[in-house]
Amino acid sequence: MYQSSYEMILNKKLGRHHSKEELQRFAEKFFSGNIPDEEMAAWLMAVCFQSLNDEELNALTESMLRSGEQLKWDRKLLKGRLLVDKHSSGGVGDKTTLIVVPILGACGVPLVKLSGRALGHTGGTLDKLESIPGFRTDLSQEEIHAQMRNIGLYIGSQSKDLVPADKKLYALRDRTATVDSIPLIASSIMSKKLASGADAFVIDIKVGKGAFMQTKEEGKALAEAMASIATSFGKKVVCVLSRMDSPLGDIGNAVEITEALAILRGSGGHLGLKELCLVLASEMHSLCFNSQIRESRKKVEEALNSGDALRIFNRLIQAQGGKLQDFFHLEPEFTYDYYAKSSGIITGLDAKEFGLVGNTLGTATLGDLPLDPTSGFVFDRHVGDPVYAGQRIFQVRYEMNRAKFLEASMDRLDGAIQIEKNKYFKVPDPILEVMRFYN
Ligand code: URA
Repeated sequence: MYQSSYEMILNKKLGRHHSKEELQRFAEKFFSGNIPDEEMAAWLMAVCFQSLNDEELNALTESMLRSGEQLKWDRKLLKGRLLVDKHSSGGVGDKTTLIVVPILGACGVPLVKLSGRALGHTGGTLDKLESIPGFRTDLSQEEIHAQMRNIGLYIGSQSKDLVPADKKLYALRDRTATVDSIPLIASSIMSKKLASGADAFVIDIKVGKGAFMQTKEEGKALAEAMASIATSFGKKVVCVLSRMDSPLGDIGNAVEITEALAILRGSGGHLGLKELCLVLASEMHSLCFNSQIRESRKKVEEALNSGDALRIFNRLIQAQGGKLQDFFHLEPEFTYDYYAKSSGIITGLDAKEFGLVGNTLGTATLGDLPLDPTSGFVFDRHVGDPVYAGQRIFQVRYEMNRAKFLEASMDRLDGAIQIEKNKYFKVPDPILEVMRFYN
């Protein structure tokens, strides 16, 4: 039955369900520019309070998916295996793609990873890779196919035609405080994953202070919403619920490439980040080869420890035009060392606060100010580490023209660091739960 925008908003506000046809007609009218933003914004706000049932969730996702192209990959490259893909719901210092993709490449898993840019207080894989001078994230379809035949891996940007409806809807959600809704996040992420043409997905759902999902229960509800969409499209999905209370190591574009290289080299890096990468890579390997998870874990550890993952990452950087020799010469204009104000154990580093302050220093574009690839935070001490008063906890990297932002953020940084005395503190496990939605 046809329903006007007014009826759609009213019905959702009252907690009523839309039929598939009603919802799809409404969504598609908006995507084609025939419903004004304020009407869609009112409906989105109603969804934030009343949610969507599974039928509505699938209907919205399908409309978003149909708004653009759906990619098809050369199945011969797969030799009968599943094409797997990963996605993170967004975190601070989250550089897992830069480590997981080469680990899997070294195991013979073909991967086309379509990544995004910084979003809110969270960083973007494309911005990080583009801090390597010359690195191209916009290869043509022919170039991507050639690279897949050569090294079996590609990391780049999704084309403008992939789920344009999500771009339009996301921009409106961002302006109207309607981002943090489980069905809206689930349909946004899954429409992009389905359009990218993979058979199975591993989704890293971040939970905690620096994430959209604040509690484990919310994380599980998001996992279930995404699984309901994926399974209705015949796809397999694994959701890894991981902690995002404190940053996953260093924050910034160039500094995150450096940390990823350190983990691939076996010469350092945040331990929780490394463990999360091994868990994500094992799940993806297991889906691709249909192998036992313990077997997969052994293979991905071998790929990392043997140096094979580092070698293939170097090949990927070179294939996409990146010049690591120039990257190693990048230097920040200024640095500021932050010292502990008291002695004790670091029991908290607020991921969101560091992410937001990082944005002002250049880790993401800010109004007219362009991104500064060398800006960010490099940590000497992490959550769980003992510190003494006067010991450096981290170094801030920034450009001269951002000094005023750093100065204005000092109280925020002080408040983002928790140091406790005489406290027994166990570093929390980076993984909260692994939820597998397939037989
Ligand atoms: N990431 C997305 O792609 N979409 C959302 O809605 C939230 C995080």
